[in-house]
Amino acid sequence: MEQDIFIQTLRDLLGPKGWVEDDDSIEPFITEWRGFWRGSCLGVARPANTAEVSEVVKLCSKAGVSISPIGGNTGLVGGGVPDGGIVLSTQRLSTIRDIDPGNLTMTVEAGCILANIQNAATDQDMMFPLSLGAEGTCQIGGNLSTNAGGVNVLRYGNARDLVLGLEVVLPSGEIWNNLKGLRKDNTGYEMKHLFMGAEGTLGIITAATLKLFPAAVSSETALIALPDIDAALNAFSALRASCYDSLSAFEIISDTAMGLVTKHISGTANLFETSHPYYALVELTSTRTNDNLRDLLEGCLGESFENNTVKDALIAENQTQANTFWRVRETIPEAQVLEGASVKHDISVPISAIPEFINKADTAVMNALPETRIVSFGHMGDGNLHYNLTKPAHMDDQAFLDLWNDMNRLVHDIVMDMNGSFSAEHGIGQLKRNELVRYASPTEINMMRNLKSALDPHNIMNPGKVIADPNIQKIMP
Ligand SMILES: Cc1cc2nc3c(=O)[nH]c(=O)nc-3n(C[C@H](O)[C@H](O)[C@H](O)COP(=O)(O)OP(=O)(O)OC[C@H]3O[C@@H](n4cnc5c(N)ncnc54)[C@H](O)[C@@H]3O)c2cc1C
Repeated sequence: MEQDIFIQTLRDLLGPKGWVEDDDSIEPFITEWRGFWRGSCLGVARPANTAEVSEVVKLCSKAGVSISPIGGNTGLVGGGVPDGGIVLSTQRLSTIRDIDPGNLTMTVEAGCILANIQNAATDQDMMFPLSLGAEGTCQIGGNLSTNAGGVNVLRYGNARDLVLGLEVVLPSGEIWNNLKGLRKDNTGYEMKHLFMGAEGTLGIITAATLKLFPAAVSSETALIALPDIDAALNAFSALRASCYDSLSAFEIISDTAMGLVTKHISGTANLFETSHPYYALVELTSTRTNDNLRDLLEGCLGESFENNTVKDALIAENQTQANTFWRVRETIPEAQVLEGASVKHDISVPISAIPEFINKADTAVMNALPETRIVSFGHMGDGNLHYNLTKPAHMDDQAFLDLWNDMNRLVHDIVMDMNGSFSAEHGIGQLKRNELVRYASPTEINMMRNLKSALDPHNIMNPGKVIADPNIQKIMP
């Protein structure tokens, strides 16, 4: 199909709200939000419903034009950046189709912003627990396509654990409707999990049936100071044993990370009188009215003081104080940006192996570049750390960034030796494609390639992301 006929067909199909192609309108869709990647496209399709998504995909399939789906464009691995075909934005698929309080489910379209979903659940006295820093902008379709994590994984699981059913437009344009609110269903392969974490390479998620939970009626938030990383593991184990399902977050913050936040972020200074090697942000929540979380927390921390696991602790007296503690945790990436260049890692190891990982990685990094500032923080309760490195104070930004691949190799080799993951949260996109080929077994890579070519034989769905099939010739207009 000639390119101008293809574009005219899309204009006719979608109308002026549904198809944009001028430079100013397409710019936000071709540029990664931090400006790390910039792609190109013929135009941006903004279909209003699943049937229109299907028509667009059928047309692209017939014309051999690639499609890059995009949600809120908050991804961190360049997964939504187009490569010359069209962008398909889910912005207009923003309807909450159904809430079923009796089944504790909500069916939403892919373009619903995560915070709007949380609010809709709260309005019904329920909660949708997926929560992350980008929740005011990211969309549920993007969350599911990246299998997002966030701060509540410890208690509620990753995005994929919160889904009962999906609606997906396949690379052929066929619509697969699996919007069932079933908690038990053993009818063959569990297809929905293929599309979650696939980063748009196997199809376009257009809607999902999500699990809801009873809303929490009480919570306690504490910031605790720890003498070392082993103590962090001990404190976590003690809290998990005594608070079990009330423990909803355990986030560690290294002293270096805390130092950058107090230096750059207003209202965060002098929380503790002296500095400590590590801190942990602890949150307990309960849906039971008769739980006394304060007693539970104080009892557990009291024991940890006695055995020297915890050196100091601040328990929030109100929501404002709790927000300040969370602000410390959530502004670490911003503080790092203000401090200068950094090399980032988003890794996981078994929770019990976190101290061993930190000790090995810290030694290796210090041997490689002694004045590097190690900014480790994150979801220790999930075994997932953002093991970030900020350049030595007097080093040139670019000189440090030139070491990106070397530092990645150093850290990722340690992680993989420990049976961990080099990408625990943010996915592969284009940033970590080479790492996937390096670390995944040939068997795993082959399974992925076979799946990709079975579902998308012409490689039109988000080509060049996650995995590329060397046997498939990419077709472009
Ligand atoms: C401040 C901040 C904090 C963050 N914190 C976390 C965190 O705690 N945990 C975490 O996991 N991530 C985090 N992220 C990363 C990011 O927010 C998540 O990956 C988020 O889930 C992406 O959603 P999005 O709508 O912005 O997707 P996009 O960035 O638009 O797209 C992400 C990927 O999904 C694909 N995609 C999007 N929509 C669809 C669809 N409907 N069907 C098929 N494919 C689709 C895209 O092609 C792309 O590959 C954070 C980002 C920021 C900026």
